[in-house]
Amino acid sequence: MISKAQVLQWLEHFAAVIADQKEYLTQLDAAIGDADHGINMDRGFKAVMAQLPTVADKDIGTILKKVGMVLVSTVGGAGGPLYGTLFMRMGMAVGNKEELEASDVLAMFQAALDGVKMRGKAEPGEKTMVDALTPAVEALRQALEAGDDLHAALEKAVAAAEEGMKATIPMVARKGRASYLGERSAGHQDPGATSTYLLFKSAAEVWNGADA
Ligand code: ADP
Ligand code: MG
Repeated sequence: MISKAQVLQWLEHFAAVIADQKEYLTQLDAAIGDADHGINMDRGFKAVMAQLPTVADKDIGTILKKVGMVLVSTVGGAGGPLYGTLFMRMGMAVGNKEELEASDVLAMFQAALDGVKMRGKAEPGEKTMVDALTPAVEALRQALEAGDDLHAALEKAVAAAEEGMKATIPMVARKGRASYLGERSAGHQDPGATSTYLLFKSAAEVWNGADA
C-alpha cells in the first residue's frame, strides 16, 4: 500500500531530484532542443511545491490533478502540457483514494502513458518521453502479473525506464523540437525521456525506502 503521505513524499523527492538535475536536463535539451527542459521542469516543480500545502489534506486524485494543473499553468512549451496531462490523468485514474494498492499504481501510470500519447501523438521510437514511459508501464504490469510485490515491480519499471531512456540515443526524433534536426538528432539522449526515468526512480527511492 502507498499512503497519501508517501505520494506527497514522492512529489517532494522528484522536485528535489529535478532541482539537482536541472543543469543536466538542460544540457541534454541544448543538444537537440532549446536548452530549457531542466529550467522548465524545475520552475514547474518549484510552483508545485509552493501549491501542494493547499491540497495536502485532500485525496490522492485531487493532489495529483492539482500538480498537473500547476504544471500546465507555469510551464510553457511541450513539457508543461505533457507533464501536466501526465499528472492530471494520474489523478483522474486514482480518484478519491487515500491510499494506493499495487493495481492502483499500475492504473495510475497506465493512465499517464495513455494521456501523454493522446496529448503529444507520439508513439514509441520517436525519441520522446513515451520511450521511457512505455517500457516502464509494461514492466510494471508484467511484474505484477507474474506475482511480484509492488516494490520489486517498481524496481523493474525503473530498470525498463532507464533502458528506454538510453534507447533514445540512436533514435531520430519524430516529435517536438528535436524533430527539426532530423537525422542530426541521432546520437543524443532525449531530455524528456530522462526526466521520465527520474520520475520512476524517485517513486522507487521513496516507496521502497531507499531514499538516496
Ligand atoms: P520544449 O520542447 O517546448 O522546449 P521541453 O524542453 O520542456 O519543451 O521538453 C522537451 C521534451 O518533451 C522532449 O525531450 C520530449 O521528450 C518531449 N516531447 C516533445 N514533444 C513531444 C510529443 N509530441 N510527445 C511526447 N513527448 C514530447
Ligand atoms: Mg526545450
